[in-house]
Amino acid sequence: MPLPVIEPPVPWHRPESIAHAAIPGIVTRAYGKFFDVQLRDEPRSLLSTVKGTVRRERRKTDLVAVGDRVWVVDVGEDEGQIEAIEPRTRVLARPARNTEDVEQVVLANPDQVLFVFAIRQPDPHRRMLDRFLVLAEYAGLPARIAINKLDLDPLEPDGRSLSQTIFGDYERFYPVHYVSSQTGLGLLELRQALANNVTVIAGPSGVGKSSLLNTLDPGIKRVVGEISTATGKGRHTTTATVLYTLDPTTFIADTPGIRALAMHGVPAEALDRCFPEFRPFLGECFYPDCTHLHEPDCNVREALADGAFSPQRYESYASLRRGDSGEW
Ligand code: GDP
Ligand code: ZN
Repeated sequence: MPLPVIEPPVPWHRPESIAHAAIPGIVTRAYGKFFDVQLRDEPRSLLSTVKGTVRRERRKTDLVAVGDRVWVVDVGEDEGQIEAIEPRTRVLARPARNTEDVEQVVLANPDQVLFVFAIRQPDPHRRMLDRFLVLAEYAGLPARIAINKLDLDPLEPDGRSLSQTIFGDYERFYPVHYVSSQTGLGLLELRQALANNVTVIAGPSGVGKSSLLNTLDPGIKRVVGEISTATGKGRHTTTATVLYTLDPTTFIADTPGIRALAMHGVPAEALDRCFPEFRPFLGECFYPDCTHLHEPDCNVREALADGAFSPQRYESYASLRRGDSGEW
C-alpha cells in the first residue's frame, strides 16, 4: 500500500493585532451569520459570529466557510466572536455564476478524500470510483478508498476474495481499506488514517457511509438506511457541508463538494495525468497531443498491450476522454 501524500499539518499563525484572548478553532457548521467553532485545544465548541472589521475585509470570497481555521474569543455561555481567519490551503468551491458573484466555498482546507463503496448491496461501481479518483487527482487531493460490507464477501475457492479481485488494481496507487462497519473489521486502521485530518467522505448511497460514521464516532448519530423509495436518493441529502468531529483535530466532511468539483470540469487534455498508472508512459507518444484512443505509435496503448496496467482502468479513461455520458 503506498503511503498517502499528505503534507504535514500547516502550523497555525496567530495574527498580530488580535485580542489576546483569541483561541484557535475550526468551523464545523455554518448557519447564516452563525458558525459552530470546534476549539482546537479542548473538546468544546462555540456558536460564533464574525467581528465587523473582519466582515468588511473579506468581500471577495465567502466570509467564513466550513473548514476554516479561525481565532475566536470565548464570550461566555458557549458563544464566541471570530477575530481572524487563517489563509486557506485549498478549497472545494462552486465557481461564481457571474462577475458580481463570489465563489462559494463548499469546504476550506480539506486534507484528503475517502471514497466509500460496498462489495455488495449495492454492487461496486468501478466507473464511478474512477471518475471520483480523477476529480481528486485533478484537485490535488490525496485519495483513499474504503470497501465496506466485507462481512458479505466470503473467500472464493482460490483463496482470494471478490473485493481483492475487484479492487486489487487500485492498491498500487491508493490506500485501500477493506472494512465492515458491522463487524468492525479494519476500522482501527481506518480511524488511524483519518487522525489529525479533515477527510471528505463520498460515495454512492447505501454503501454504509452513515454506518461507518456512526461506528467511528457513536456521537455523530447519522440516520442509517433511510432511502426514499420515491426518489431512490437518501432523504437526508445534505445541501451544506458539515464537519463531524471525531476528536478536536480529526474531522470528516460530509459535503456535496465532490460534485461541485465535477462542475468545474476536468479538461480532456488533463485526463491522462489523472490516471497515475499512465504517468510513467506519458510524453512518449508520436503525437504530442495524443489522446491515447486511436493514434499510431501511442506509448500508453503499447503499455496497455504489455499489461502495464489494468484494462478496466484504461476503459474508464477512454470513456471519459470520449465524453461518453456518465451515469452519475
Ligand atoms: P449510506 O447511504 O452510504 O449512508 O449507507 P447507510 O449507512 O445508510 O447503510 C445502508 C445499509 O447498509 C443499511 O441497511 C446498513 O445497515 C447496511 N450496512 C452498512 N454497513 C454495513 C456492513 O458493514 N455490512 C453489512 N452487511 N451491511 C451494512
Ligand atoms: Zn498516446
